[in-house]
Amino acid sequence: MNFTRALATTSCRHVVGSSFASIFASQSVYASARCMPDFINHSCIGGAGYSSGTKECGIRCFHASSQVWSRSDAAYGLKPPKREKYVRKGSRNQPPVDAPHVPCKVTATKSNPDKTIEIFEGMTLVELAKRSGKSVSSLQDILTTVGEKIQSEFEPLSMDISELVAMEVGVNVKRLHSTEGKEVLPRPPVVTVMGHVDHGKTSLLDALRQTSVAAKEAGGITQHLGAFVVGMSSGASITFLDTPGHAAFSAMRARGAAVTDIVVLVVAADDGVMPQTLEAVSHAKSANVPVVVAVNKCDKPGANPEKVKLQLASEGLLLEEMGGDIQVVEVSALKKTGLDNLEEALLLQADMMDLKARFDGPAQAYVVEARLDKGRGPLVTTIVKAGTLVCGQHVVVGSQWGKIRAIKDAAGRLTQRATPAMPVEIEGLRGLPMAGDDVIAVHSEERARMLSSGRKKKFEEDRLRGKIVHIPTTSDDTEEVPKRVEMAVIVKGDVQGTVQAVTDALTTLNSPQVSVNVVHVGVGPISQSDVDLAQACGACIVGFNVKSPPISLTQAATRASIKVIMHRVIYHVLEDVANLIIEKAPGTPETQVAGQAEVLNIFEVKGSKSKGPDVKIAGCKVVEGFVNRSATMRLLRSGEMVFEGPCSSLKREKQDVDSVKKGNECGLVINNCCDFQIGDVIQCLEQVVRKPKFIKSESGAVRIEC
Ligand code: GDP
Repeated sequence: MNFTRALATTSCRHVVGSSFASIFASQSVYASARCMPDFINHSCIGGAGYSSGTKECGIRCFHASSQVWSRSDAAYGLKPPKREKYVRKGSRNQPPVDAPHVPCKVTATKSNPDKTIEIFEGMTLVELAKRSGKSVSSLQDILTTVGEKIQSEFEPLSMDISELVAMEVGVNVKRLHSTEGKEVLPRPPVVTVMGHVDHGKTSLLDALRQTSVAAKEAGGITQHLGAFVVGMSSGASITFLDTPGHAAFSAMRARGAAVTDIVVLVVAADDGVMPQTLEAVSHAKSANVPVVVAVNKCDKPGANPEKVKLQLASEGLLLEEMGGDIQVVEVSALKKTGLDNLEEALLLQADMMDLKARFDGPAQAYVVEARLDKGRGPLVTTIVKAGTLVCGQHVVVGSQWGKIRAIKDAAGRLTQRATPAMPVEIEGLRGLPMAGDDVIAVHSEERARMLSSGRKKKFEEDRLRGKIVHIPTTSDDTEEVPKRVEMAVIVKGDVQGTVQAVTDALTTLNSPQVSVNVVHVGVGPISQSDVDLAQACGACIVGFNVKSPPISLTQAATRASIKVIMHRVIYHVLEDVANLIIEKAPGTPETQVAGQAEVLNIFEVKGSKSKGPDVKIAGCKVVEGFVNRSATMRLLRSGEMVFEGPCSSLKREKQDVDSVKKGNECGLVINNCCDFQIGDVIQCLEQVVRKPKFIKSESGAVRIEC
C-alpha cells in the first residue's frame, strides 16, 4: 500500500441518489477568485513564468506557473506533467495492474445505504471495519478482489482504496481532509448572488463581470465559464458564482459541495422585501453562510433604501447600522454605482471570516457547471476548495473519470494548475458530471476507472432503491453517543397568520431531547425552491391550508425522500411531525427486567484442570416473565443487589436451553458468581431501546415524551 501516499486524493464526496439529476440537468452554476498579496506569492511557488507585473492583479498568479515544471511542484505531491504517471513511494515497485475493474464478488457483506462513514488518508483496515460495521476478514477479501495487498490490517490505506472498499460493502463515504502539518494561506472568497425575481441579480452580476479580470484583460469580452473573478487594486480578488438564485445554491449544498462563502442578498429599493428575499435568507441561514445586502435600483425615483433596511430588520436581520453585523450597501446595477463599496464590503466580510486554505498537495475541488462541447467534449468548471489541481492528472469527478488535458482560467487562458477559490474549466473527462460533484486526483488511469465504476455501481444501486442519501450535518457523527433529535421543518401556509400559528405550535414539540427547527416559512403553495431547501437541510415540508403541489413536485420530493405533510388542522400537523421525529429518533437504550427466578437449591460442580474452577449452579424456578441464556443476570438478596454478571449456562433437565419461561425450573450459572443462597432472586436483564412517544392530553395539548 505504498502507493497510498502518492495517490493522496482529495475532496469530500457523498454518494447520493440520482434524483438530483433532474435538478442539475436544467441548471448551470457558476464560480470565481480573490488573491491576497501573500496569496499571490505563495500560489506561484517556484515563480515559474511569473512577472512582477502580475502583482497588480491577483488572478494573474493563477496562470503564472506556465508550462515549466519547478522543484516546488514536489510540494504538491505530484510528478512532472510530461511523465504522466506517478511513481510509487516506498518499497513497492510494481505499478498497479492495469486490468479492467472487475466488480467485487464478495457477497457476505450486507449493504447499508443509510450509513455514511468518514474516511481519511492513512486509515487502517481495522478502523474501516469498525466504522463500516463489517469484519476485517470480509474487508480483506474485498481488498484482494480490487487487486490490493496489505501486509497487516494496521497498514495505512489510501482514501481511494478505503472508498472502494466502503462502496463494495454498500456504505456511503465522506472524505475527510486534514490540514495538520500543512501550511494554510489566505484565499479569495466565493460569492453567490440571491434575491427576489426582477430585483436585479443578473444585472448586478453583469455589472460586476464588467469589472472582472477577464473583462479587463480581454477588452470587455468574457467567455461563459460559470464563474468570474473580480480583482481589486489592493491585489485581493473575489470569485463570483455566475448563477443567481438559491436553486443552484441549495442543489450544490445538497450534494455536499459547500462552495459559497458569502451570499449577496439583492433587494430592489423600489420593491422591498419579497417572498424570495426571505427564501434566500433562509437558504443562507440554514447553510450558515453570512449575508451582505445589496439594496439595488437606488437610481430609481421610487427607491427607498431606508424602508428596505427597516423591513429587513423586522425580519430579524441584524444590520450593521442597527448594531448588528450584516453590511448593507446601496447600489445601482444599471448605473454601475456602489459596486466598489459592495466589493469592499465583501472583502471585509471575507477578512472577518479569515478564509484560508491549504495550497500544497492534491486538490479538493467541486464541479459548478458542466457542459458538452462538440469539439472539445465534456467541459467542467470547477472551483478548488483546497490544494492544487494540475494539468495531466487523472481525475475522478463524481462518477466520471478522465485525464486533465487542459485547464483554462476564468479569462480563458491555458494554465497548468488551479489553486483555492480559483474557477477553472477542465477538459479531458470521459463523461459529463453533475454540479456539486467532487473532483479528486488519482495516481493512475486504472485507479480512476475503478473508482468511477465503483461509484457508478453505488449510484445505480441507490437509484434503484429510490434512495437519496442525505449529507450528515456534522462530521463527527458517532453512533454510540445518544443524539438530540433535530427536525428541520419548512412551513408554507395560506396566510401569514396561519403560518405563524403552525410555526408556534410546532415549537411546542421542543424538549431537551427534541428540537424542531423551522428553517423557512412562507405564504403560498409549496414550490420547487422549498423542495430544494428541504433537500439541502434534510427538512420535511408542512403545507397548511395550501393547495396540493403538482405531481411533478410531489414526485421530486418523494425521490429526494422528503416528507410533505398537507393538512388543514394544526393537531394533525403536530401528530405527523411528531411521528416523523419518533421515526428518526435513535431511542434511549434502557435496561429492563424481562423475568425473575427464585433460587430453590444450590449445586456445586467440582472443577478440575481440564474443566476449570468449581462452579455453583442455582437451581431456580422462573416466577415472572422469562430468563434468557444471553442476558445479564442480577442476583438479589432481601431486595439488595449482591452480584451482576452474564449468564454462562442455562439448562433445563440437563439440556442447554436459550430461554426458560415462567413456571418452569432450570439450572442457572452466572459467570464468576459463587455466592448463591436459597431464597435469592435472580433477575434477567434485557437491553431495550425506548423510542419517544407522542402524548396527547385531554385538553388537546401535545408533546413528545422521551
Ligand atoms: P433578476 O431577475 O433578479 O436577475 O433581475 P434582472 O437583473 O433581470 O433585472 C430585472 C429588471 O430590473 C431589468 O429590467 C433590469 O434592467 C432592471 N434593473 C436591474 N438593476 C437595476 C438598477 O439598478 N436600476 C434600474 N433602474 N433598473 C434595474
